[in-house]
Amino acid sequence: MSVLVYAESPEGNIKKAALEAVSYGHKVAQVLGTDCIALTVGSVNGAGVLGKYGASKVYNIDGAGLGHFDSQVYTAVIAQAAEKLGADVIILAHNAKGKALVGRLAAKLDAGSVAGTNAIPTNDGSFKVKKNVFSGKAIAEYEITSTKKVLSLIGNSFQPEEVGSDVAVESLSVDIPASKLTVKEVDTVKGTVPLPEAELVVSAGRGMKGPENWGIIEELATELGATTACSRPVADTGWRPHHEHVGQTGVAIRPNLYIAVGISGAIQHLAGVNSSKVIVVVNKDPEAPFFKAADYGVCADLFDVVPKLTEAIKKFKANK
Ligand SMILES: Cc1cc2nc3c(=O)[nH]c(=O)nc-3n(C[C@H](O)[C@H](O)[C@H](O)COP(=O)(O)OP(=O)(O)OC[C@H]3O[C@@H](n4cnc5c(N)ncnc54)[C@H](O)[C@@H]3O)c2cc1C
Repeated sequence: MSVLVYAESPEGNIKKAALEAVSYGHKVAQVLGTDCIALTVGSVNGAGVLGKYGASKVYNIDGAGLGHFDSQVYTAVIAQAAEKLGADVIILAHNAKGKALVGRLAAKLDAGSVAGTNAIPTNDGSFKVKKNVFSGKAIAEYEITSTKKVLSLIGNSFQPEEVGSDVAVESLSVDIPASKLTVKEVDTVKGTVPLPEAELVVSAGRGMKGPENWGIIEELATELGATTACSRPVADTGWRPHHEHVGQTGVAIRPNLYIAVGISGAIQHLAGVNSSKVIVVVNKDPEAPFFKAADYGVCADLFDVVPKLTEAIKKFKANK
């Protein structure tokens, strides 16, 4: 019995989500008294680093058909790896790819699954794991009674922790099924840290009045080294791209700092951001619901406050 972590590698590189998943897998393995094994799929650079974050072994599966992510093909290869390596617990990052895999893997392996956990399981005779439910207003504890278990981990719930050193990557051979999809084009966002991995986020809503005013948000984000986000109506009306939409129906994030500018704080928005470590709200309406979830609130006109905040950060950086 072992813990197998699928370590994602966008464009062949190991990113923070993979390190978090392996660090988490290492802790789960400790609870179960077993080893944590990491698995990469496709052509991957520097996967040996996963050893530093707690993987006792790192395997790679490569071959024709794995260049693009196809959840059915990846499910088949990860499930075979789990069987070959005798893994009873399979861990994924709870991001777009992880969400596409978690249910399929559970079905394929006849496993119980918890999608979107943010806690280490307990194993005192029964295997129990928690996750936030009802938009973060309650915590549910699930007992998984099947032998095989599949968990996906919410991003930013565990910081990557160095506990060892690099290991050699071994290749693993499995049958790669033919894909039923043809990927015509992949268009990735360049230049900024992707939202699920961002530690600092500056987000804005309908209070901005229109897309032409976003310069002040981008300037603040640039000064902070933050990623930009937005509320749903802003993306729906085309003021900002859809990948920036956070909330219940958008990306769920847990940054260290979330600055919300001109966003009312509707429950559907909060569902995706209220696990942020520090929330700063700028809103001119003292009754805006977001203030109830804020660690710091500025009740003022955003067009006045945001440029001043950017100036203050510039000065602070210049005087450091
Ligand atoms: C099923 C469902 C799912 C949804 N999913 C999501 C989701 O995932 N994410 C999401 O964001 N929404 C979601 N919504 C929509 C959500 O209910 C809200 O309508 C939306 O979040 C409101 O966006 P907003 O705060 O930008 O706009 P508004 O509600 O219009 O709020 C604008 C805010 O800006 C403030 N403001 C205006 N001018 C200024 C100024 N000059 N200075 C300072 N403050 C100012 C106002 O006081 C106000 O609080 C969902 C809704 C439904 C029904």
